[in-house]
Amino acid sequence: MVELINLNKTYISKNRKKVYALRNISLRLPESGLIFITGKSGSGKSTLLNLIGGLDDITNGDIIINDNNLSKFKLDDFANYRSTYVGFIFQNYHILDEFTVKENIELSADISNVDCDIKRNLEFVDLEGYEERYPTELSGGQQQRVAIARALAKDSKIILADEPTGNLDVKTSKQILKILKEVSKTRLVLIVSHNLDDAATYADRIISLDNGSIVSDVSRITGYSNKFRIEDNTLYLPNNKDLKDEELVRIINEKDQYNNIVQLDGGMLPTDLKEENIKNEKMHKSKLSRDKFKKLFKLIFKRRIFNKVLTILLISVLLSLFSIFQSFNAFDENEKIMDNLIETEENILVAKKNSFKGVSVSNMVAKVNDEDYEAFKKCGYEGNIYKLYNHCIPILSTNIMLLTYKPITSIINGFYASETYGTLKCDQDFLTRLYGIDGNLDVLAGDLEGEEHGVIITDYVADSILFYNNTVNGREKIYTYEDILGTFPKANYSSGRSNYINAIINTNYKERYKDLIKIFSYLWDDDPSNDDISNEIKSDKTYSNFSNEVQKYLGISYTFSDKYEESLYSTKQMVAATIYKMTLESGEISHEFGSFSYYIDSLIKKELTGNDVYMTTKAYDAMFGTNYTKDGLSEFVPHEITVLKKYLTEEYYRKTLNVVGLVVSNNIGVYTSEEVYNEYMTYKLIPYALYFDSINHKKDLSNVIEDYGYKLLTDETSAIAMVNRVIDIFGTFLNIISMCLLLVCVVYLIHFGYKSIKSNMYEIGIITALGCDNNNMGKLFVFEILSVGVGIIVASFIGMYIAAGASNAVLIASFEQVFGYTLNSLDVISFSLNNAVIDLMLAVVLIVFSALFPLLMIRKIKPVNILKAKE
Ligand code: ADP
Ligand code: MG
Repeated sequence: MVELINLNKTYISKNRKKVYALRNISLRLPESGLIFITGKSGSGKSTLLNLIGGLDDITNGDIIINDNNLSKFKLDDFANYRSTYVGFIFQNYHILDEFTVKENIELSADISNVDCDIKRNLEFVDLEGYEERYPTELSGGQQQRVAIARALAKDSKIILADEPTGNLDVKTSKQILKILKEVSKTRLVLIVSHNLDDAATYADRIISLDNGSIVSDVSRITGYSNKFRIEDNTLYLPNNKDLKDEELVRIINEKDQYNNIVQLDGGMLPTDLKEENIKNEKMHKSKLSRDKFKKLFKLIFKRRIFNKVLTILLISVLLSLFSIFQSFNAFDENEKIMDNLIETEENILVAKKNSFKGVSVSNMVAKVNDEDYEAFKKCGYEGNIYKLYNHCIPILSTNIMLLTYKPITSIINGFYASETYGTLKCDQDFLTRLYGIDGNLDVLAGDLEGEEHGVIITDYVADSILFYNNTVNGREKIYTYEDILGTFPKANYSSGRSNYINAIINTNYKERYKDLIKIFSYLWDDDPSNDDISNEIKSDKTYSNFSNEVQKYLGISYTFSDKYEESLYSTKQMVAATIYKMTLESGEISHEFGSFSYYIDSLIKKELTGNDVYMTTKAYDAMFGTNYTKDGLSEFVPHEITVLKKYLTEEYYRKTLNVVGLVVSNNIGVYTSEEVYNEYMTYKLIPYALYFDSINHKKDLSNVIEDYGYKLLTDETSAIAMVNRVIDIFGTFLNIISMCLLLVCVVYLIHFGYKSIKSNMYEIGIITALGCDNNNMGKLFVFEILSVGVGIIVASFIGMYIAAGASNAVLIASFEQVFGYTLNSLDVISFSLNNAVIDLMLAVVLIVFSALFPLLMIRKIKPVNILKAKE
């Protein structure tokens, strides 16, 4: 039935030496009978038993049981094998302390998938009525009898007992051995023992090991008696047995009556290893019923409760932090601005395209494409959309200023508009809504319906012009609003000519901001301490309101003309352009000019048509490395060049020109036909912001704003912009920390699973020995982590809710302290159910991922090591 062929087992000891525990063991074991395995300590007895029991793996050789070869087993086969074939009895009993006697026995039958009559079982081991006792309420002998009952409950073919009486007194030992002797009538019982007396008394066969090899293998001759007796004048002395006093007395008294003294040899003869039929029997699958699974789960779950609570708390704090960082990062500037505008009852939205990231060009904004514009028109927005053009009133280059106490050297100390200077192509309704008094615009000078190409400026712009022209030397002085009207400036400034100013309207800003203006007037001297006062004022809400208004409405001019672009250039006026760089290409040669101009042909009195141009020698020499002088001009051979302009990365003007000749000049550029010149001029006109006169369709707009990379213009010092700037700075950093938080969660959960398995090792060892499979065992721990996971999810949800509120309060308080003004009802971080659900789903993934770990770890555990560790 059981056959061992050339079985070897080596261990690698801690100091990396090979230990030969079993060497070339070959054995045949019958279907029933009591076999003792004896030998000195360390001779390999336990190793042999563990190998037969499938608790440890074979180094080489075979163990064949009913046609099953253990050396060919896969991991799951071992569990099935143990549950089908073997019942273990250990020196230290190894029964589960948390289970009653009955439950211990039931568990064993359950794993082996057999029905078991517990009452009969207990009667057999003389423990009837002990069903509900716990192991701690039993004596050692009783515990061992429970262990026997448990082994018997499996109805297995083989009982393996490793020193079952090692911890028991003589009397109890005898009881146990008698029970095992009884058991061995119907199945094979292998007992490891070094008690030769017991072996001589009870064994049907004794196998002795020494140093991992079999040194003797003897079987009891049937009918042979090892008893002390006198028969036919012959005294028979038992083998291996101390004589009792009465027996000694009998020998002395009756010594004359016998002729022979025979020393009995124990009735043991070398075992005949006869061939036996090998049965072909299938193993049944090991399993674990729901009921027992629950019971074991409860056992595991009750342990380390404090640790579980701690884990739940820690992980949910980490996840709450994670969610705060995420919602901080998800702060949507546009959305908040819109909410804020609605709250402050402002009804005009200004969106400009985001500046190119990483391109450090001050005051450069991206161009509003036709595509973007169409998208806004089609998105369901029902209000009017107006374009803001970069064409502006040139005062001190591009800035409009009014209030400053250091006018020229450091205009940044004053009020100025830099972001949205230009001309808004709108209608009269728009302006009336913005600055109308009783439904009418208050015109301070001029006429709204002046020249078709003219613009209307605000009193703020007009005051800036007056202020500037009265302050800077070398300019023709202008003193009144009337002086400003018409082509401005009258004095020749910068590129010279500009828009035609039709009218000046009243915005009433001087009244509305009179306190602020008063303070700035007071600061009007060169005292350095004014810097401090100036900075202090700037942290004031009124200041930010004012500068916000300057940027959006006060500092720009307005035109109502439908044909603004056309009319502007038909006047042949020079436009103050923001882009000077121009790239010229000719064959292989490409040259970028920092500044390159188009001049009208009439200035050089040459008749130019189509794309024919004259190029200046300065430009030509710079590009082609030539050195033309007046005399050499006739040698010039006409050829084509391509001119292209980029707005940052976006090409927006490309034209192939035919250079028909050169002009000696220190200018850099080309002389063109009027047609080419005008066409070019229109390209210099760039719409770069959009005004929406209704915010009732906020939802429709917000997607396009987001998708097309627009940004709502807000007061740069406003809370929203501040928050956004902080997010720009810390966003990536917080994302990295968030990832680290998740990593910590995973590591901690894996550690938790590891610790949990570690602390339940003993139980794992026992139920493995009973034949529980890895899947069920792994499942126990997966369930444990998952149950903690449920705790984590619930706690995190609550945590996220509280954390959002608390961190929002802290952030708002901090902002107020740092920037000195209140964030009117602005939520930096707010709890959102959607986001919480997303974060929690992520947590579920983490938890499930971490729960895989016990499954892997359980597979690596050898039951024999666990049980040994407990001995
Ligand atoms: P016995 O049960 O007869 O006392 P064992 O079968 O336990 O002996 O051990 C046999 C030999 O194998 C001994 O020399 C022991 O030191 C060695 N051995 C047993 N288990 C291990 C192990 N896990 N690692 C290293 N050596 C071991
Ligand atoms: Mg041993």
